Amino acid sequence: MPEQLRSVDEHRAVVARLLSPTPTALVPLADALGAALGEDLLSPLDLPPFDNSAMDGYAVRAADLVTAGPEQPVRLPVTADIPAGRSDIPELEPGTAHRIMTGAPLPPGADSVVPVELTDAGTAEVTFTAPATVAAHIRTRGDDVHQGDRVLRHGDSLSPSRLGLAAAVGQAELRVHRRPRVLILSTGSELREPGAELLPGQIYESNSVMLAAAVREAGCEAEVLRFVPDDVDRLHAALAEHLTDKDLLLTSGGISAGAYEVVKDALTGPDVEFAKVAMQPGMPQGCGHYRGVPVVTLPGNPVSALVSFEVFVRPALRACAGHRTTRRPSLLAALTEPVTSRPGRRQFLRGMYSPGTATVTPVGGHGSHLLGKLAAANCLFTVPEETTALHLGEQVELFLLP
Ligand code: AMP
Ligand code: MG
Repeated sequence: MPEQLRSVDEHRAVVARLLSPTPTALVPLADALGAALGEDLLSPLDLPPFDNSAMDGYAVRAADLVTAGPEQPVRLPVTADIPAGRSDIPELEPGTAHRIMTGAPLPPGADSVVPVELTDAGTAEVTFTAPATVAAHIRTRGDDVHQGDRVLRHGDSLSPSRLGLAAAVGQAELRVHRRPRVLILSTGSELREPGAELLPGQIYESNSVMLAAAVREAGCEAEVLRFVPDDVDRLHAALAEHLTDKDLLLTSGGISAGAYEVVKDALTGPDVEFAKVAMQPGMPQGCGHYRGVPVVTLPGNPVSALVSFEVFVRPALRACAGHRTTRRPSLLAALTEPVTSRPGRRQFLRGMYSPGTATVTPVGGHGSHLLGKLAAANCLFTVPEETTALHLGEQVELFLLP
């Protein structure tokens, strides 16, 4: 009897159900980069808020310049100077020009702006050698945004341009979802802190720093408990102090089929389910609740840990952080080498994607301990469950790694 494996999509859905969007609060714009907007933003004003000049030049009535040409220059007196920011704007009388700067309010009566480069740049009098076009070089009130427009949507991820827009429509603060707080714990009696001396049989602990970085890259806060040895009592003790206020507990290691599986031993019970997922790397997975806090238990091999974070945890955390877009965009690329894959498993292989040629070259093999190869890759590409071999030139789906 082949054993029943849970599908990748099903496990992703189970993990997603553990978390719900965090509450919202007002934060200054400067603190909102990367957060998800917690409500729609309606513009309280038009953008631009008033008709203004798009160029440094002269505000004119086009009717005054209809006869202007190289042989028949038209000279007008310059009766006002309008720098940006001036608010007492005199009306433009027929037969006159106002010198005007970019962003300055258009004087009533003007219907065109002539760029300074097309004139003699006079200050008392100015000479025009060509007709002006009505509406030329004028930014009209509301041509970008209308008062009442929904300029940002609940769930939008706040990018530099969206923050700029929020400021432009007058917001000093934005209501955003609180960043989810994630507690990260690695397990393994063989692990040592980087910088310490290794004894035979020991390795440096790498998952906690890697997962914390991945959590922060996803727009969340990470607290790292570093690691505990394979000892159930010490695991419970380590967690006891740090769980309060956390939205998610993320562990790595100690959940596979061997002995000394400390996470499995400590968490097995009605609130946590351990499953074998039809994927490679990352088959052993677990999730549920630990003392009321959602928990996801990742396998310990570093490549398995990061791949399963990307596939299961990151989308759930993005949704928890309030983002409407939770998955990384997927791309298609042609393989530069054939690959093989085990049947019945979705394979997540490391690759180097070349955008110019839309190709992907596999990096390293299937081994889930190959962190050096993962770090040399810029994407993960998938081989579907039912596919056992892909030829050179075949298309695969991939997503870029940060
Ligand atoms: P486990 O899932 O605990 O059986 O671990 C699987 C493999 O990943 C073993 O070779 C561990 O030494 C290694 N491993 C587990 N946790 C970590 C970690 N935090 N950092 C580096 N390697 C790890
Ligand atoms: Mg272990």
